[in-house]
Amino acid sequence: MIQTRFSYFNGLRCSACDETYDPDAVQGLCRCGAPLLAGYDLAALAADAPGPDLIAGRSPDLWRYHELLPVRSPDHVVSLGEGMTPLIPLDRLGSEFGLNRVTMKDEGLLPTASFKARGAAVGISRAKELGVRRICMPTNGNAGAAWATYAARAGIRAAVSMPIDAPLVTRAECDITGAELFLMDGLIGDAGAALRPLLAPGEDSYFDVSTLKEPYRLEGKKTMGLELAEQFGWRFPDVILYPTGGGVGLIGMHKAFSELVELGWVKGRLPRLVAVQAEGCAPIVKAFEAGLDRAEPWPDAHTVAFGITVPNPLGGALILQALAESDGTAVAVSDDDLVVAQRRLSQIEGCFVCPEGAAAVHALGVLQKSGWIGEDENVVILNTGSGIKYSDQVKVHAPVLSIGDVVTPAMVAGPEAGGSPRA
Ligand SMILES: *Cc1c(COP(=O)(O)O)cnc(C)c1O
Ligand SMILES: [Zn+2]
Repeated sequence: MIQTRFSYFNGLRCSACDETYDPDAVQGLCRCGAPLLAGYDLAALAADAPGPDLIAGRSPDLWRYHELLPVRSPDHVVSLGEGMTPLIPLDRLGSEFGLNRVTMKDEGLLPTASFKARGAAVGISRAKELGVRRICMPTNGNAGAAWATYAARAGIRAAVSMPIDAPLVTRAECDITGAELFLMDGLIGDAGAALRPLLAPGEDSYFDVSTLKEPYRLEGKKTMGLELAEQFGWRFPDVILYPTGGGVGLIGMHKAFSELVELGWVKGRLPRLVAVQAEGCAPIVKAFEAGLDRAEPWPDAHTVAFGITVPNPLGGALILQALAESDGTAVAVSDDDLVVAQRRLSQIEGCFVCPEGAAAVHALGVLQKSGWIGEDENVVILNTGSGIKYSDQVKVHAPVLSIGDVVTPAMVAGPEAGGSPRA
C-alpha cells in the first residue's frame, strides 16, 4: 500500500536570481522583481510513490495531483469541481490539414468557462491557508471572473479592475459574486496602476494576485500538463499549441512535464510548446524570432482575442526559456484568420472555442504547411475557454421573419454552408 503526504511542497525560489523565500509566509515577487517558483521534494515523493498508479482511483478534478500542489492541508482546498477536462479528437480538422492525431483539450468546460479557474482554485486555496483576507488584481476579464468566483467561495474579499471593453460576461461574473469591480478606460496595465493604493501595508491591505506576482496561480495551471500526461497514458504528446498572453499556462505545463521526468513517472522527450499570439500583440513571437531571451513591451496592443492582449508579460523570460528547452516555437495569427478558424471549427467539429483557442487552431495549419508538425505526431490544441463567453463578438447571420412569413427551400443554406456527414 503506497502512502504519501498530502503535499511535497518545500520551498520558494526566484526564477531569475535563485534567492529562496519562506514558503509558509505570504510572498509576492522576489526582491529582484522576478516571479518566485514553488519547489517540491521530488526525491521523497519518488521514494514514496515510484510511479503514478496511486492517482488512478481519485476523483476527476485537479486535486488528484495534490502531492504536486502547494496546499498543505485538504481542509483548505476551495473547489468547484475544476479539472480533468476532456481531450477531444479533431479528426475532421486534422484531415483538412493532413494530420492524423489532432486533439483538443477543452478548458471551456471548467467553472467560469475558462482555464483561469485552475489558477484561481489553487491560488485562492493557498491564500486561504496562509490567512489572506483580501485580494486584488487587474485582469482582461477571465482571470478576474475566476478569482472573484473562488474568492466568494472562500469568503475572501476581492477587488478587480478590468478594461471597460472586456467581455461583458466577465464583468457580470465579478459583479454577481460580490467583487468590488472597477472598469478602466484603458488597458490592463492602466487597470493595475489604479489598484496600487490598495497594496499599501496596513490592517486592510489587499494582496496582489496579478499574473505571476504570487507563486501559486502557476501551480494551478501546471495541472493542465499533469492531466495531459495522464490522459496520454503517462506519456507526453509531441506538440502543444497554447494561446499565450501572460504565459502562465505554458510555463506551468513545462514545469509539470519537467517535474514528471524528474520523478521518473514519465519518460521521453518533452512536448514541443508553441506560443500562439495575435498579430496585434505578439511580444513573445517577436522576441523568439529575434533570438532574444526576454520580451520587449508591445506598443498599441489590440486584438479580439482579449485573453492574450498582454503587451508586457512579466514572465516573458520564462516563456522564452520554456520554448527553448522544449524545442518549441512561436506563431502570430491575424484577427481575421482566427475569426475564420473559430467559425470553421464550430461547423466541422461542433466545438465553439474562444478566440484565443481559435488562434491556436489557425496556427496548426501554419505549422503543418511549414513542415514543423509531422503527420503522425500527437498534437494538442489547448482551448483555454468557451466561445460562449465571447458570444457578443459573434456576427449572427439570420434573416428576421414577421408573423406569417415562411421559410422556403430557396432561403435555406446550400451544401457548402454546413458540414458533410461524418465518415
Ligand atoms: C488568460 C487567457 C489566456 C492566456 O493565458 P496565459 O496563461 O496568461 O498566457 C488565453 N486564453 C484565455 C481565454 C484566457 O483567459
Ligand atoms: Zn530574484
